[in-house]
Amino acid sequence: MPAPWVESLLSLAFPAACEICGAPAPVYPVTGVCGRCESGIVLIPGPHCVSCGRGLKTETDRCSECWDKHFHFDRAFSCTPYEGKMKKLLHTYKFEGRKYLKHYFLKIMQKFMEVSMDDLAWDAVAAVPLDPAKKRARGFNQSELLSAGISAWRRLPDLSKHLKRRYAHEPQHRMAKSAREQNVKGCFTVTNAEAFKLKRILLVDDILTTGQTTSECARTLKESGASSVIVLACARGI
Ligand SMILES: [Zn+2]
Ligand SMILES: [Zn+2]
Repeated sequence: MPAPWVESLLSLAFPAACEICGAPAPVYPVTGVCGRCESGIVLIPGPHCVSCGRGLKTETDRCSECWDKHFHFDRAFSCTPYEGKMKKLLHTYKFEGRKYLKHYFLKIMQKFMEVSMDDLAWDAVAAVPLDPAKKRARGFNQSELLSAGISAWRRLPDLSKHLKRRYAHEPQHRMAKSAREQNVKGCFTVTNAEAFKLKRILLVDDILTTGQTTSECARTLKESGASSVIVLACARGI
């Protein structure tokens, strides 16, 4: 942290405004969100569905969406619902190139991991890759910035560069539920299988929706020898 007087000078030179409400936001590190809006975002409380990570209201281990589904990941967690302020922020982050918002998402992810994933361990992290054309157009992969942050925080190797997306599939929300698994089949590839061999992978994504794309990514990692894949997404679509 810089000295308070440096911080004051920085705030004069680069006034930071909250991306949600426009109020003054911290200058260092620039998170893009003021304290008031930050406290308004609530983490999904446990217990979580053992399959997809939805918050459960009853004493079951699976949510009603998952009882007849099979995912290739071992478990999935999402920090917050994809709605309201969180939806707006993720949209700004991805589509308006506000990369510095990653600091804010990482804060949320760290908090969630400490509260709800404390009993789990990994050997490496990796991000769900973006379609190459999309990544070129956007200039970055939003999930890669998050996995790099978690890698630095937890001191775990980041294997994202060894996992690629070969092509873009049809958007899942346009597909019938029954066709979604087939739609994503084979869209990921690993360029260095040795890197994943016998590793417990934390697979990082920005938004988890149907879970099928992430499941296909986990299938590819396991086919390459990963011993387990646990997914952590910043937000959960309905
Ligand atoms: Zn605000
Ligand atoms: Zn579920």
